This record gives sequence, structure tokens and C-alpha cells, in this order.
Amino acid sequence: MSSGSEYVIAVLPGDGIGKEVMASCLKVLEKIQERISGFSLCFNHFKAGAEFYLLSGVDITDEDLRKVGEADAILLGAMGLQNVRFPNGTEITPHLRIRTELGLFAGMRPVKAYPNTLQPLSDSRSGKIDFVVLRESTEGLFAERENGVILDDREARDTLVITRKTSERLFDFAFLLARRRMVKGGKGLVTCVDKSNVLRSMVFFRKIFEERARLYPDIQSGYNYVDAQALDLIRRPWDFDVLVMENMFADILSDLGGGLVGGMGMAPCAEIGLEHALFQPAHGSAPDIMGKDQANPTAMFLSAAMMLDWLGQRHRNSSLLKAGNLLESAVEEGFRSRRIHPKEFGGRHGCSKHTQILKEIIDEVKTD
Ligand code: ATP
Repeated sequence: MSSGSEYVIAVLPGDGIGKEVMASCLKVLEKIQERISGFSLCFNHFKAGAEFYLLSGVDITDEDLRKVGEADAILLGAMGLQNVRFPNGTEITPHLRIRTELGLFAGMRPVKAYPNTLQPLSDSRSGKIDFVVLRESTEGLFAERENGVILDDREARDTLVITRKTSERLFDFAFLLARRRMVKGGKGLVTCVDKSNVLRSMVFFRKIFEERARLYPDIQSGYNYVDAQALDLIRRPWDFDVLVMENMFADILSDLGGGLVGGMGMAPCAEIGLEHALFQPAHGSAPDIMGKDQANPTAMFLSAAMMLDWLGQRHRNSSLLKAGNLLESAVEEGFRSRRIHPKEFGGRHGCSKHTQILKEIIDEVKTD
């Protein structure tokens, strides 16, 4: 745990491009610390993931899992490899265990269009896309991940779980997030995305949303069925602010969101609980490009910026808040000035060159 203004960060690079974007991120965080004083980050490295499983027979050791939970924040690259599976066929991502054990219920996945990046929608308003998919991350249809049943090869069932306790926390998080986003021009709107026209669990989910919405009269609330939301994310994504939904719906729509703003390399993620938080890009290990220095590290950098911001809020440390702002501003400036152009959308910069340029920009960006 932290002492004074030193913060312990558990670093889990994981597999595939996770290791590449993490190496870049640590260099960038060192550079940020050269620019901003008032805090220091102590990185504790842990081996975990599919490659570690092949070597050791476990995805992470119990001892390391415990130590990860003791850190002030967790920074993760990506975990899992397509052909490496547990004997029951499930994917090797200790990340999901960390999420459950630490109660990281609020998965924040910002979708923001940066200037001069790939925007596949032809509408000129694409540049205004700026919303967050807020994913309930411990329940929903994925709650039963390992407990779903296959009956005699005739039938299979998974159960969708919604609890009042977690939903209330999730919706409170959504409304407070919308309120905080208003300071930076957010619309002050939370949209509940569900399937309450079909599923009783979703009727319950919406009922709790309505109850909590009444506690935040300064924030507008809206509703959309998940299928209509998918359509609206293509027709008018610039109209949304905070979209809150159950686990699997958000898993799908947040990838759609990544596609709207240039690809998965532009999709950061924070998974936040009451006491702990984990920060990682929303993409996977991307075996198709691993080891080729082609990954776009932007999502990893923006996830690290969210980590600095979260630590800053939690510990009331204005230097950390400033550091988070500096990192995000440097990313924005890199795209605005066209100095950064990732291979992910047809540019010339692989992961290492991209990192080098961003470090130069961090040195130049003004801080107040
Ligand atoms: P998962 O199932 O865990 O999401 P995956 O490997 O199936 O993992 P992703 O890793 O998210 O899926 O990748 C989907 C596609 O996006 C791949 O074609 C991959 O090359 C590309 N991609 C993902 N992340 C990046 C990145 N940071 N930079 C460039 N391309 C990326």
C-alpha cells in the first residue's frame, strides 16, 4: 500500500501485445513523473496469463494474486491466447478472477474521437463522439461463467444475475460520472441500456435505475433497448454521454464503440470497485499482430491516465490529477498535430516509435 505520496502499482503485462503496450506505458509513466513532482509510482511486476500457465500450470500464483490485491492500483496489459485453454475449455484470464475477487463492478470504457484518427462514419459529427460505456463487470450473463450447465449434450443453460446491491452501486457510479464529466463539457445524461421488453431480470434492472435516477435530479436519464442502442451507436453516437448496462451487452457494445473511433487500440478501460481498481486497454492479446511492433499503445496510455486520475481522486493528490491530465493532453496533441499516426489505421508508427514521439510531446505540453 501507499506510504506518503508513493503508490504501489501492480503491473501485469500478460500475453501477446499486452507485453508490448505495457513496456511502452511504463516508459511513458516514467516520463510523466519526470515532469510532475508530488507523487511517485513503485511498479511491482507479476507474471500471469496464458503463457505463464503453459510454463507453470497456473494462470497466477495464489501468493501473487494476494499481493496484486494489496497494491494501490493494478495496471494490466492483456491476457489470454487463442489456443491455450483450461481443461474445461475456458479462456485463461486470471484478470476475470481478479475482477470478481476485488469486486470491480464498474467497468468504464470511454469512447472518444481524437482528431485525425480513423472515423468510419461519414457524418461530420463523428469528431464529437465522446461517451462512456459503463459495464457492470461482476454479474450479468457472465456471472455464471464457469457454472453454466450442459445437460447430457441435449441442452445448455447460463443464468443472468442482477442484484439490487450491485445495481444500486453501478447506477450511483453512472450518475456521479455524468456529473463529473459535465465539468469537461459532458451532457449530463445517463442512458440505461437493457432488454426490459423481454427479460424479467432487465425489468428489475430498469426499476432500480429509475429509483436511483430520482436521487440525481441534476442529471438527465434516458432509456434504450440494447438492440436499438446498437443501431443508435451507428446513427447518432454523438448524442450519448454515459451508457450503463449489464456485463455482456457492454462487452459487445464497447467493441462497437472502439470501432467508431479507430479500433481497439483506441479503447481504454478502467474497472473500479469500492476499494480497488484495475486499468487496462479494452483489447485482447491480438495474436495476429503480436511480436511485430504494430500495436497501437494509445488505449494503454489512456488507461494509465485514468489510473492517475483515480488515484488522484482517491488520495486527494492534485499532482496525480495533473499527471493524468498531462498524459491525456499529450495523446490528444499527438493526434491533433498529426505527429502520431498508428499502423492500426494505416499510419507509419509502430508501438515503439509511437511511444518515443509521445514522450517528446509530454516534454512539450504545458501544465498549469
Ligand atoms: P479478446 O477475445 O480477448 O478480445 P482478440 O485477440 O480476439 O481478444 P482483440 O485483441 O481485441 O481480440 O483484437 C481484435 C482485433 O483488433 C485484432 O485484429 C487485433 O489485431 C486488433 N487490435 C486489438 N488491439 C490492437 C492494438 N492495440 N493495436 C492495433 N490493433 C489492435
